[in-house]
Amino acid sequence: MSQAGADPRRRVLGQRLAAVRRRIAVACADVGRDPEEVTLVVVTKLFPASDVRLLAELGVTDVGENRDQEAREKLADPLLLELPLTRHFVGQLQTNKARSVVDYADVVHAVDRLRLVDALDRAAGLAGRRPRVLVQVRLDRTPGRGGVPAEEAADLAAAVAQRPFLELGGVMAVAPREGEPDAAFAVLREVAHGIQARYPGATWVSAGMSGDLEAAIRHGATHLRVGSAILGSRPPLR
Ligand SMILES: *Cc1c(COP(=O)(O)O)cnc(C)c1O
Repeated sequence: MSQAGADPRRRVLGQRLAAVRRRIAVACADVGRDPEEVTLVVVTKLFPASDVRLLAELGVTDVGENRDQEAREKLADPLLLELPLTRHFVGQLQTNKARSVVDYADVVHAVDRLRLVDALDRAAGLAGRRPRVLVQVRLDRTPGRGGVPAEEAADLAAAVAQRPFLELGGVMAVAPREGEPDAAFAVLREVAHGIQARYPGATWVSAGMSGDLEAAIRHGATHLRVGSAILGSRPPLR
């Protein structure tokens, strides 16, 4: 029966969360944005359900995972039952995992091909769900990290918007590994505006991680996906 604040992990998470919230506030102030427009999605991959629980107790409303099996197990943990969390799947998604992911994910971020749109729509219909879907835009030339080229994003968004069991939320991207993220996020913002002109509800721009959240905020991000700045460095992937 630890006192509030007595658990060292809780204290560390609370401090890092506060530091990230300050970074968000400063970055928003710099460009005259209201921090309320920016949702912090804490990416908890490779960290336990107990951390997710502590984060929720510290006021986090949105959590992200990037691997189906881990997410499915963790989010079903009894520790997390009844917590009012919005659950985001932020990773690359294989088509054959669509059935699994729509069960627990309220938002699917990295949708980058028509086959995946179809699989998610079918799975959502069967599950009686209607997840929000973001079109992943590729901002660098390095293949393998997912995303559609910027020129193709509007067509894929249109395909999502036509599906009965999917809600088009907007766009998502990961900054290129090399170079300044600003130019890349500016491209993302252009793509987002083009899609919003046709689908006014598609207001979400998921961009910005621990290292580049300020740049993402400068370029209109509405959702930040932050992991290590809050949870610490991840254990190496096996
Ligand atoms: C892990 C992950 C993040 C968080 O990255 P950090 O650099 O730890 O903040 C964001 N987005 C995606 C898609 C991820 O897989």
